[in-house]
Amino acid sequence: MSPASRADAFAVLDLAPGALPAEIKRAFRRLAMQWHPDRNNGHGAAERFRQIKAAHDYLVRGDEDGEADTAADANSAPARGPDQQETLWLDIEEAIFGGVHVLELERPEVCGDCAGSGRITLASSRMCACCRGSGRVRSKSGLDHCDACGGRGYSAEVRCETCDGTGETRSGRKVRVTVPAGMWPGRRLRLAGKAAAVGDLPPGDLLLQSQLRLHGLFSLRGDALEVTVPVPLFDLLAGSVVAVPVPGGETEMVSVAAGTASETRHTLVGHGLPLRSGGRGDLSVLLQPVLPEKLGKTDLDALRVLQATLAGRESRLYPDLTAWRAQWLRAEPKKGGRKSRKTRS
Ligand SMILES: [Zn+2]
Ligand SMILES: [Zn+2]
Repeated sequence: MSPASRADAFAVLDLAPGALPAEIKRAFRRLAMQWHPDRNNGHGAAERFRQIKAAHDYLVRGDEDGEADTAADANSAPARGPDQQETLWLDIEEAIFGGVHVLELERPEVCGDCAGSGRITLASSRMCACCRGSGRVRSKSGLDHCDACGGRGYSAEVRCETCDGTGETRSGRKVRVTVPAGMWPGRRLRLAGKAAAVGDLPPGDLLLQSQLRLHGLFSLRGDALEVTVPVPLFDLLAGSVVAVPVPGGETEMVSVAAGTASETRHTLVGHGLPLRSGGRGDLSVLLQPVLPEKLGKTDLDALRVLQATLAGRESRLYPDLTAWRAQWLRAEPKKGGRKSRKTRS
C-alpha cells in the first residue's frame, strides 16, 4: 500500500517534490480533514484517505537523505519498509574509543484518535470551551471573533485530548548500537533492518549520523577539541609543568616557560577528535591564570618578601603601568618621589 516512490508520495499530497517535513505534515492535515471517513462519507473517501496516510508515512518515516533514496528507487525495491535516519549523539569518549550505545528513538506517529487533524467531531454540539458560548474572545484589540467555534458559541468539534490538538503522538523504542572506534562528527552507520517497521513490510535500514554531545570539560573551538585548564598565576610566572586532562581519562604534561602572565594556548597533537582521514586531530589547551583565593599569614609573609624584593623595579616590571601613572597621576605621593617621570619616553 506504500507509494512506489517519493515522487508519487509527494504527488498524492499535492506537494512539489522535495517539500519540507513541516509542509508534508501541513498538507497531510489539510487532506486528512477533507478525506477522513469520519468526515467524508463519499464514495472512495476511505481509499483516498488510506493513500494520503501511506504517502505521509512514507515521506515522514522514510530516509530523508535524497541520495540514499535515489539509490533505493533505482534498485526498484525489494518490498521492505523505508529506511530511517537518526542522529547518534555520542560522548567524546564513545566517539573516540567506541562502545555499546543504547539509542532511544522517539518518533511522531499520526494520532489514531483524530487521524492527525488534532480535532474530534462529537455526535452533538457543545458549548465552546474557548469563548464559553459567547462566540467572542478577548484579544489585544478588544473583543474578537472566536476561531474555535467560528463565532457560533457552540461546536461539535473539540480538541483531541490524545494528542493535545497536535495531530501527533510519540512512541519510543530502544536500539542497541555497537559503535566502532573513530566516530568523527558526521560519520554514518547503517544498521540493516533496524528501521521502525511500517505496516507488514520487513523493516528498512536505520541510518545513523554521529554528532558529539559535549559537556563539562571539553568544548569545540571550530573543528578542534578544546580544554581549558586553570593554573595558579605564580606557576605561570615562574614557569612550570602543567597536568592537562585528555579524553580517555589520561593526563598529559604541558611545559610553560617562565614569564607568562596571561592566557596561553598550547596544542597536544593527536589527542583531539577522530579524523575522517584516520587518526586523531589535535587538542587545543587553554591555560588560564587564576589568583589565590585564600591567603594565610605564611602566604602573606612570603608575598611581602616578594613585594619588597621587586619594589624599585616597577618601571621594568610594569612598563604600561608606569606610563599610565606618568600620564594620569599628576600629584604623586611624596614617598614615591618623582623618579617615574624620567621613564616616560
Ligand atoms: Zn489526536
Ligand atoms: Zn467559541
